[in-house]
Amino acid sequence: MARYTGPVCRLCRRERMKLFLKGPKCDTMRCPIERRPYPPGQHGRGRIRETEYLLQLREKQKARRIYGLLEKQFRSVYAEAARQKGITGENLLRMLELRLDNVVFRSMFGSSRNQARQFVRHGHVHVNGKRVTIPSYQVRKGDVVEIRPKSRSMIVIRHNIDTLGRGVPPWLEVEPSAHKAVVRDLPMREHIDVPVREQLIVELYSK
Ligand code: SF4
Repeated sequence: MARYTGPVCRLCRRERMKLFLKGPKCDTMRCPIERRPYPPGQHGRGRIRETEYLLQLREKQKARRIYGLLEKQFRSVYAEAARQKGITGENLLRMLELRLDNVVFRSMFGSSRNQARQFVRHGHVHVNGKRVTIPSYQVRKGDVVEIRPKSRSMIVIRHNIDTLGRGVPPWLEVEPSAHKAVVRDLPMREHIDVPVREQLIVELYSK
């Protein structure tokens, strides 16, 4: 599946906030947002007219970039969220949270969603005992997500488990020593800590 391969920190600068796309670098002074907290490009520091459309577009771009989706992929997740019962914006965020690459990231096996996605693509992740290599795979309540036994000795995974201190959301139960995470519940909006106003995304796509 296609993915964005351009400069990553530019995306944060475009949104004028840290989106934590690079793992450990994001918490250091090497983060470009610390030095240049304005949009990239020649007109980055120019005056911008804040229209309603611009606000909606920026929220959508932010969500898309945080979860690492291209426009077409994001659109189809939105279409599915709109088909489901309940509040579309919350459905959208819940579906994004339940992506397998995000669950690997939230379980602290990956230092960023990009790295977690690579682990999935390279076959290091099992769901309910079976290898799944699709990052967009939707996990369900009760699913067990594990690092494949052969991959548990990988230095990068061991390093992540030992050093990442992000904390695990309440809908996930993680056993770091067993390299295992269980999806205890579906994530509620208050447990999804992404800085996105999902209602604006719904308004944008409803036009
Ligand atoms: Fe964003 Fe991380 Fe790059 Fe900072 S270091 S700009 S938070 S991706």
